[in-house]
Amino acid sequence: MGAMNPPALLVEALTKTYAAGTAPAVDGLTFTLPMGQTWGLLGGNGAGKSTTIAMLLGLLVPTSGRVVALGHDMARDRFAALARMNFSSPYIALPHRLTVTENLRVYADLYGVPDAKRRIADLVEQFALGDFATRPAGQLSAGQKTRVALAKALVNQPALLLLDEPTASLDPDTGDWVRTTLEAYAAQSGASILLASHNMAEVERLCSNVLMLKGGRVVDEGSPAALLEKYGRDDLEEVFLDIARGRARAEAVA
Ligand code: ADP
Repeated sequence: MGAMNPPALLVEALTKTYAAGTAPAVDGLTFTLPMGQTWGLLGGNGAGKSTTIAMLLGLLVPTSGRVVALGHDMARDRFAALARMNFSSPYIALPHRLTVTENLRVYADLYGVPDAKRRIADLVEQFALGDFATRPAGQLSAGQKTRVALAKALVNQPALLLLDEPTASLDPDTGDWVRTTLEAYAAQSGASILLASHNMAEVERLCSNVLMLKGGRVVDEGSPAALLEKYGRDDLEEVFLDIARGRARAEAVA
């Protein structure tokens, strides 16, 4: 891998301990996400997914270890990386008094999007935001908010997208729309996506590789197909339960 083509993410021995004397929330996490791939980050509640994503974004300082995003070391050079990254989480609301277009404008400016007006017009059309573009974000339905949040996440045409449960609490139709949009964006842009999810069907559909986290460590990884084969299961939900409950592989297959 030459300097011109760095991986989307290089993560080395990433560790976060929130308080001295407590167990690390993330414990020696190491992986390399190649450009152009979508990977899943799976694990039960408390496995360390959100802590990992916060460190990958530079929002949380690691206790130790290293994150290199799009060739930029996040400890030294994070603004260069952040301009080409974006993020979406159902737990972070858009400024609710700003209208939809004002929201997109704020984020376009934050990310230094050239010709922001044009980009926002394109997003309004692509995500069918026209009917409520001048309404405050706080007054939108959940489905409308989802569309705006995804438009925001793509406003700077990120090369690396970090998504924390992108379809949590959405109805099946809206969830499917989000997955289709992400698939199309990745295919058209060549972007990489790291997706924390509890939805195994979503992971099987979108992800070429899965990191299974437990207690802040990767306890298994592989393509969805390889994990199904290894655990002798028919769907990823069962594999997830085997791992979450700490069943040994031999037991899982038995
Ligand atoms: P996940 O996203 O997989 O549910 P988290 O990253 O939120 O996992 O949590 C991992 C561990 O870190 C949990 O034990 C959680 O209680 C702990 N944790 C998360 N955030 C904080 C915080 N701000 N302060 C102290 N402990 C935290």
